Amino acid sequence: MTSPKGTFDILPLANELWQQSHLWRFFEENVYASTKLYGFEEIRTPIFEKTELFLRGVGDSSDIVSKEMYTFEDKGGRSMTLRPELTASVMRSFAEHHLEQKGALHKLFYMGPMFRYDRPQAGRYRQFHQMGAEIIGGKSPLHDAEIIDFAVSILQKLGLTKLNLFINSVGDADSRQAFSQALKEYLPENQLSEDSRKRLSTNPLRILDSKDPGDQALLEKAPKLRDFLGSSSQDHLQIVQEQLKTWGHDTIIHPRLVRGLDYYNETVFEVTAGGQNAQNALCGGGRYDGLLKLLGGADLPGVGFAMGIERVLQALIAQEKAPSMPGLCSLFLISLGDAAKSLSLKLLKDLRADGISVVMDYSGKKIKDQLKMASDRGCKYALIIGDEEISSGQAELKNLASRETKKISWQNRAILKGDLL
Ligand code: ATP
Ligand code: MG
Repeated sequence: MTSPKGTFDILPLANELWQQSHLWRFFEENVYASTKLYGFEEIRTPIFEKTELFLRGVGDSSDIVSKEMYTFEDKGGRSMTLRPELTASVMRSFAEHHLEQKGALHKLFYMGPMFRYDRPQAGRYRQFHQMGAEIIGGKSPLHDAEIIDFAVSILQKLGLTKLNLFINSVGDADSRQAFSQALKEYLPENQLSEDSRKRLSTNPLRILDSKDPGDQALLEKAPKLRDFLGSSSQDHLQIVQEQLKTWGHDTIIHPRLVRGLDYYNETVFEVTAGGQNAQNALCGGGRYDGLLKLLGGADLPGVGFAMGIERVLQALIAQEKAPSMPGLCSLFLISLGDAAKSLSLKLLKDLRADGISVVMDYSGKKIKDQLKMASDRGCKYALIIGDEEISSGQAELKNLASRETKKISWQNRAILKGDLL
């Protein structure tokens, strides 16, 4: 039996390095540290929601809703969908619990699995994982700048370099309307890809996001979104860029960046890593001022992003910035004979109570094999206890990396602890 297509296991020792669990832990711990620095609080919502949430919140002309959702009918005949992204769920939760009554500004982050019926390939899975954040209740472009700085600083702290930060403005509803009309009039319907032809009537803006090279060629000379932006949208974008500059981030204007979801307005952005497939964005996001209201909540603005954890870990491996596997334990206890075994079992428990990570073998393997087990799993020290060590009270503590040994009073936990910690 194998795991379903497009899914994978995260293991202590995986063949694919990015599937090793210590890297996932490394990512998560880094994120938690950053959320604290930036004042984001965690939100956890259900893995599945009523299908209508995504129909309304993500938009039916998006790729997600039109072809990627894992939708099923539950035993009560209700249509449910495994969450394909989390912004809609966060807004649903925000509205349901009336968080608008609990403060003026809300900074929330989340982390967990998402589900999309994507075509599996490198960087594209059916169960994948996102870390994301939303700022709800802030209209200022400084919030856009802060959330972008937050996303990029997470990637930088992990050790990634050569990051490209693409930014654009999709303006307000009026400018998008006027631009969509112009695009519709300009684009020759019969030369577009099948998907884009459909979008011409449902949502022409989506065509800018097309990955079809023919569509992209047609767009070269098409009307430009930026020519339709009002002055307040232009100012908004400029403030975002200037603030990001003072915080040390260069932005690249990407005039065709519109992003895959229907709910964006004003700022949109994406981050890619040099050396990776340019189509594989590490993260993307933007401003979505009307979304909460659309889902029945208060009329509050929002700005956020989502980061694909698989792609970030793959970029870390590609850039050779991934940390090596940490050792399993500080100490591997090796005992010889029954008396030593029972004393070691007691020491094992006492040392763990002292906060020292320690393991031992119960199967009576030879010393040589136990030492090999200890160094294979990256234990720092081995302590060998046999009859002689019991009577003398002295044992050899062996540093498995340097091979140095040292005689210690093994029953004196204070001394042992001093050496191990
Ligand atoms: P793409 O254009 O690559 O399909 P998207 O616009 O669908 O991306 P978003 O909905 O913006 O992606 O999701 C944010 C991030 O989540 C992406 O930048 C990417 O890192 C990650 N992501 C999206 N879909 C997948 C997937 N199927 N497998 C792995 N990561 C994904
Ligand atoms: Mg997609």
